[in-house]
Parts: sequence; C-alpha cells; structure tokens
Amino acid sequence: MAEQTDRALPGIVVTGASGRMGQMLVRTIAASDRARLVDCVERAGHPWIGRDIGEAMGGAALGVAVTDDPLEAFAQAQAVIDFTAPDATVEFAALAAQARAVHVIGTTGMEPHHIAALEPAARHAVIVRAGNMSLGVNLLVRLTQKVAAALDADWDIEVVEAHHRMKVDAPSGTALMLGEAAAAGRGVDLTEMADRGRDGITGARRTGSIGFAAIRGGDVVGEHDVIFAAEGERIVLRHLATDRAIFARGALKAAIWGQGQKPGEYDMMDVLGL
Ligand code: NAP
Repeated sequence: MAEQTDRALPGIVVTGASGRMGQMLVRTIAASDRARLVDCVERAGHPWIGRDIGEAMGGAALGVAVTDDPLEAFAQAQAVIDFTAPDATVEFAALAAQARAVHVIGTTGMEPHHIAALEPAARHAVIVRAGNMSLGVNLLVRLTQKVAAALDADWDIEVVEAHHRMKVDAPSGTALMLGEAAAAGRGVDLTEMADRGRDGITGARRTGSIGFAAIRGGDVVGEHDVIFAAEGERIVLRHLATDRAIFARGALKAAIWGQGQKPGEYDMMDVLGL
C-alpha cells in the first residue's frame, strides 16, 4: 500500500463505499501515490458505519472509518468520487459544491431532471460526469461519432450492450453515450431517433433510427457493440471491459485533473484530452 498521509496529495472521499465500484475505488485510491483516501460515506443505518473500510472489505485496516455524514466528510476533501444512485448523486453534488470539492460522478441512470439539478452545483465547483470512465470507451465514443459522420442513413446503427445481472438501469450509460455520439455524427437528435425496446409486431425498422438492445446476466463487467449495418456489409465497433479497475482508475484521474479547473461541468473527453 502507498503511504496515504502526505497532506499535499488531494484528499478523496468515496461515496457508496460498500458497492461494487465503491470498493474498487477504495482499493485504487489506497494503492495510489497521487491521492489519499480521507473518508468513506454510506447511507445512515448501513452495517459498515463506524467500521474501518479496509477491514469491512475483508482486508487490512486503512485507518478510515465509514461515516453517514457526507457534509463533514466532504469538508476535509479535495474531491468526492461518487458511483451511487441518481437521487443520492444530486444530494452529494450540492454538498460537494458547498465544500468546493471536485465531484466525480460515475452514477448512471440519471434522468434529465437529475442532470438539470446539478447545474447550481456546477456554478460553484468542478463536476466531472461520465457514463463510462474508461479510456477505451471514450475512444470508442469518438470513433463512433466519426464513423456515423462518414456513413449515410442507409447504414442502420444499433447499440448492443451486456452487463451483470445486478445492473438496475437500461440502456447502460455507456450505450447512451455511444448513441449520442452516433446521433451527433449524423447531425440528428437522439431523443427523436432512439428506438429503445422492440417487442411484438414493431413494423419495419425506421430509416435513420438508432436502436438499443440490452443483455443482462452473470457477472459481465460491461460489453458494448456499435453496429453499422448496410446492404451486404457490416461494421462492428466493440469494447469489452473485463475489470472494474478501469473505471476506478479513470475516476481517480478525473479527480486529480479537476484540481485547479474552473467551476463547471466536464466529462472524460475533457480529462483525457480526446
Ligand atoms: P452498487 O454495487 O449497487 O453500489 C452502489 C452503492 O451506492 C451501494 O453501496 C449503495 O448503498 C450506495 N448508495 C446508494 N444510495 C446511497 C446514498 N443515498 N448514500 C450513500 N450511499 C448510497 O452499484 P455499482 O455496480 O457499484 O454501480 C454504482 C453506479 O455506478 C451505477 O449507476 C452504475 O451504473 C455506475 N457505474 C458507472 C461506471 C462509469 O464508468 N461511469 C462504471 C461502473 C458502474 P446501498 O447498498 O445501501 O443501497
């Protein structure tokens, strides 16, 4: 484990620390020599409250107790990394802005009203929000936009994704990012062109629509295909995630990048300079 006591390193709070991503973030920050873990937040009544996060995760003590008081935790941090749920994320955004801490948001399933609710916070603090924090997926987003711009509407675009059985939202945040990129490349509005869920006698495919399909099962970390299908040929752009650590590393990179940036809302394209 890297030494976590260097006060010059940005101090980071992890929300939803007991979750799949929360635990991965704790491990990634604890092992980093570019940041230090200062607190872990879980909701009131969670069995891990008051326990050392390292021990609660079944490993060695990390000297950081889990708290249910986000405001106090954020007050001593330079960044908050948040992979929780939309309503919680909106609450955390207001508290992180009060503390002037960079808020890195990995939470997906955010509806337009959740996203709009982040605006006041982004006037006072840096928010980095992305449906996928991996370098590979962000590159895939750029490639999707370029390919969509190069092809006309004779090429049907379909986004197919697979995730583990516990995932609660569909299509995935990444699938939506890819759909947005395809729509941007084509110069159309995704809300008008998206086809999100076919069942029964749907009729023939609408020319120019962007289709989504979701597979759920087992422990799949995340797989995304963008299919461009025309008469007689097909292009498939694919990203396979095999380890959640890619998202945690990307989120940590965003938390460090956000230090010293002007208040506002950013995404991983800004962080990665893509
Ligand atoms: P998870 O295992 O269910 O973890 C979510 C955690 O957030 C749980 O510990 C949950 O606690 C906690 N939480 C929820 N509401 C809270 C609140 N009000 N206060 C404190 N903690 C709260 O889910 P996951 O697989 O880690 O995924 C979390 C989110 O990240 C999802 O939206 C997922 O799609 C997204 N994600 C994004 C990326 C990316 O790169 N952007 C990558 C992977 C996952 P309880 O158990 O008590 O509810």
